[in-house]
Amino acid sequence: MSTPLQAIRGMNDILPEHSPRWQHFESVVRDWLAAYGYHEIRTPIVEQTALFKRAIGEVTDIVEKEMYAFEDALNGEQLALRPEGTAACVRAVIQHNLLYNAPQRLWYAGPMFRHERPQKGRYRQFHQVGVESLGYAGPDMDVEHIVMTADLWRRLGLTDITLELNTLGSSESRARYRTRLIAYFEAQPDLLDEDAKRRLHSNPLRILDSKNPAMQALIDAAPRLLDDLDEDSIAHFDGVQSLLRANGIDYRINPRLVRGLDYYNYTVFEWVTDKLGAQGTVCAGGRYDSLIGQIGGKPAPACGYAMGVERLLALLDEAGIATPDTAPAAYIVHQGDAATPFAWQVARALREAGLAAVLHCGGGSFKSQMKKADASGAHYALIIGDDEAAAGHISLKPLREAAEQAHCSTAQLIDLLKARK
Ligand code: ATP
Ligand code: MG
Repeated sequence: MSTPLQAIRGMNDILPEHSPRWQHFESVVRDWLAAYGYHEIRTPIVEQTALFKRAIGEVTDIVEKEMYAFEDALNGEQLALRPEGTAACVRAVIQHNLLYNAPQRLWYAGPMFRHERPQKGRYRQFHQVGVESLGYAGPDMDVEHIVMTADLWRRLGLTDITLELNTLGSSESRARYRTRLIAYFEAQPDLLDEDAKRRLHSNPLRILDSKNPAMQALIDAAPRLLDDLDEDSIAHFDGVQSLLRANGIDYRINPRLVRGLDYYNYTVFEWVTDKLGAQGTVCAGGRYDSLIGQIGGKPAPACGYAMGVERLLALLDEAGIATPDTAPAAYIVHQGDAATPFAWQVARALREAGLAAVLHCGGGSFKSQMKKADASGAHYALIIGDDEAAAGHISLKPLREAAEQAHCSTAQLIDLLKARK
């Protein structure tokens, strides 16, 4: 026998035991997005590598070291598994001319791929839910995004998440700051690590995002972009802050928050927690007014954010928040020539009434079937033998509480199970 093959490192199976919490999360998320009038967009997992290079930037962790990029063996095209969702969303919006006469509020969800070192909260295939609002220039949309995420934490029952906020300013402000930052880092070449040296002229703001502890002191003492902001940038940031206050949202301004991706301007934010160790950012985003133009569309302002589903699920676990019960109402145990067709009929009636019923398959004694009923997690075992079939009734045995076995008709059974639900 050959050795069994394993899943790829950093790419996880979501086993049946865990899927109820994914499904619960997804259903809360769908209702929440509908409540804000957002529409789902689904794009392919694979795109041209050039899209991510153009959108995310050549000199970024994602494009330099994390992207699953490959050549299509059949036609030589340069392709990549999507490392994030914004680029493809914007690509689709441009391709299908969705901004022709209306702005768009969109969302997406699904797996993303980054070749990172796997650890708790950091995987090579992970899942994001993302939101993009395209065609909106004002601070009100930045705040809608923050307010709606705060509402999602409430809907999920999460409390240990706090908001960090910063502004990257207009492109003019950033350009001025960039010059000042390069001068600051250039003055201390011995303190720069390899990444920083490489990024010094191509993407100096990204040095502020470095996770290298040896760089932290240098980064802490660096000049601040907040001191280089022009009037428009200040007005936008003030607009964001006053609307946040009006909505009762607490935040901390973090001048070191620059985000990993190149395309942001003005508002950037992260929702962070100290309950997950090093991987504490559960949601991140901001404004990216230049991206649509940068990848070939008619320029339009936009902003968005994405959350890491695995990290949020870990936080739900950490907080001890239980997933709603997904066990079937009934497991139907049956034996006998008359019993079996009656059992199928009862199962169908329950399902038509909106109740979940598992019909035993595979035969076996009542005793062995009862074991399966117990293991299924069902609330009741319905026992159907030829006697029950002849009388047209069902024996009902509660599996999760100490109560007497009872007899009832199919109609009574449905009423009883519905009342319990
Ligand atoms: P980090 O600084 O943790 O690497 P990032 O800035 O690369 O995060 P984004 O590209 O902003 O992350 O993605 C948004 C969110 O997706 C993150 O805040 C995080 O919750 C989640 N995320 C990103 N990369 C991973 C990963 N490899 N595994 C699991 N979740 C991830
Ligand atoms: Mg990253």
